Order: sequence, then C-alpha cells, then structure tokens
Amino acid sequence: MSDLNAFIAGLPKAELHVHHVGSASPRIVAELAARHPDSSVPHDPEALREFFTFTDFAHFIEVYLSVVDLLRDAEDVRLLTYEIARDLARQQVRYAELTVTPFSSTSRGIPAEAFLEAIEDARTAAEKELGVVLRWTFDIPGEAGLPAAEETTRIATGLGCDGLISFGLGGPEIGVPRPQFKPYFDRAIAAGLRSVPHAGETTGPGTIWDALTSLRAERIGHGTSATQDPRLLEHLAEQQIPLEVCPTSNIATRAVADLDEHPVREMVEAGVLVTVNSDDPPMFSTDLNTEYAIAARLLSLDAAGIAELARNAVRASFMDEAGKRGLSGEIDAYLTDWGRQS
Ligand SMILES: [Zn+2]
Repeated sequence: MSDLNAFIAGLPKAELHVHHVGSASPRIVAELAARHPDSSVPHDPEALREFFTFTDFAHFIEVYLSVVDLLRDAEDVRLLTYEIARDLARQQVRYAELTVTPFSSTSRGIPAEAFLEAIEDARTAAEKELGVVLRWTFDIPGEAGLPAAEETTRIATGLGCDGLISFGLGGPEIGVPRPQFKPYFDRAIAAGLRSVPHAGETTGPGTIWDALTSLRAERIGHGTSATQDPRLLEHLAEQQIPLEVCPTSNIATRAVADLDEHPVREMVEAGVLVTVNSDDPPMFSTDLNTEYAIAARLLSLDAAGIAELARNAVRASFMDEAGKRGLSGEIDAYLTDWGRQS
C-alpha cells in the first residue's frame, strides 16, 4: 500500500452519495441468497464475485435488480442496511447519508411501515455497535414516473422516520425531465427535508439548472456536466452548492469517457465545493477509499489536500454543527498524527 493509500484507509470520512441496494457487496448478497435459496444469483462465492464484476451498464442493472429481488421481507432490508454500515465502518466512514429507494420495496409488497422500521432498527444498532451514524435520503426512482414520486413523498412526509433528512431523485435523466417532480419536492421541503436530486450525470447543464430552480437543490448528485457552462460553475461556487462527485461511477455509466478526462479538477479550480463519493461501490468494483485515491491523483493532492477533501464532505453534509465540529476535529487530529509519524 502506498503511503497515501494508507493515509486514506485510516482517514475518518463522511459519505454523502451512496445507494442502499447499490451498496450490497458479494458478501451481503451471499447472506441474503442463503435466506432465499430459490433466487437466481449464484450461490458459491467465486461465481458470485464473478457475477459482480462490472462488464457494462446493462449487466450492472441486472446485478442491481437481482439484489432488489432478494429483498423480500423486512428482515432482508434490516440485514442489508446493517451490513452496509459494517462495510462503511471498515473504511473509517463515521457518517453516511444513504440514498434509499423505498418504492422499490413497497411496490414489491413490503409494507412501508415495516420497511421504515427495518432501516431504523439497523440505523440505531449500527450507531451503537459499529460507530457509524447513518442518515437517509429517500429518492424517487425517476424511471417509475409520477406514481413512484407520489408514493415516495407519502412515505417521506407522512409516516415519520427519525433518520430521514433529505429527498432525492435518481434513475435515468434522458426522457425524465426534472421539473415534473417540483410538486413532490415542494411537499418534501415543506416537511423539513433537504433537496438532493441527481442532475447533470448523463445530460447537460440545463438539467442542473432545472434541479436548482424547480427542485431547489441544496446539493447536486454528480453534476458532471456543470463544467460545460461557466455561468453555472460560477453560480455553484458563489452559492456554495456542493457537487457529489463519483469518479468510477461516471466511467462505468460512460458519463465520462476516461478517468483522466474527468472534470473534477475544473470544478475545484472554479471554486466549487466538491465531495468524493462512491455511488454503487461493489457493483462498480470500487469503494470510498478507492474513490479518494482516484481524486487524489486527478487533483494532485498530498495528505493535507486529501484531508481537506474529507472536510468538504463534512461541510456539505446535513450533520448538525456539533456533529460537523466533531468529525472535522477528528480529521484534523488524524492529519496531525500522520505528520508526526512521517
Ligand atoms: Zn447515485
């Protein structure tokens, strides 16, 4: 392990853009598959690892849906959620805003109340037993249209869920205009939730403007195409609207052709608050530490620069001020210790 990789591995971190089902690692899927022997996913560990190796986007969707199919009752949801926290804790993630898509489960017959109870139970256990603070973003799966938006809004605003802090929009952007979701975001914001839609991942900067004006986005998921519009970059920098950058995911989905062409440096040079995140890590054969290493290379960062990237995620998070001070302090102390040792 290089020095910087070792630094990243031990660095206390916050993760702001990572999906619930998209975080199911082969280890977790093996546990779920053991509960449901009739499922179509491979059962032996070697075949399962191979199944998880990213080949193209269609295969990613196949893997993703096979995990959705394994979430058949509340206990599956609880197991997945708790085990994700274990994988985050191993990477020294102290705080994560996990994007959860309740509609995928409620539309398959898990009652919303049981779903919420399962994730909340996992959240409180993970905080106590693993030291990871989890918070939820409930997102509308855009491809499922307005009925999914209605159901997601109902669950997010009507049922009560202590860990829920924000409201998102995922799925494809092409053919799924953002402004149609305005009424749902209005309701979620009125209920006290923060707005964090995906935008500008696979479409141009116009989608990011839509997310800002129609959906009142406080952070943008990806925002990769922001660099195509200097006025937008300036606006994001001025308003300190953070971008949740997920480098490996952008290559996997072909939002960006090649890592060396990733616009993250341009974003940073324009003064935009950039955070580094992992999106659907096992399905894109990555993890948060790998994404930090990639960002460090693309931005030519040393240990202090990497620590600043970790602080960006704390700043851009929806933690309360005491939480932010605590985690930033932990990052500072880790950097100081590292300097003393090397
Ligand atoms: Zn995402």
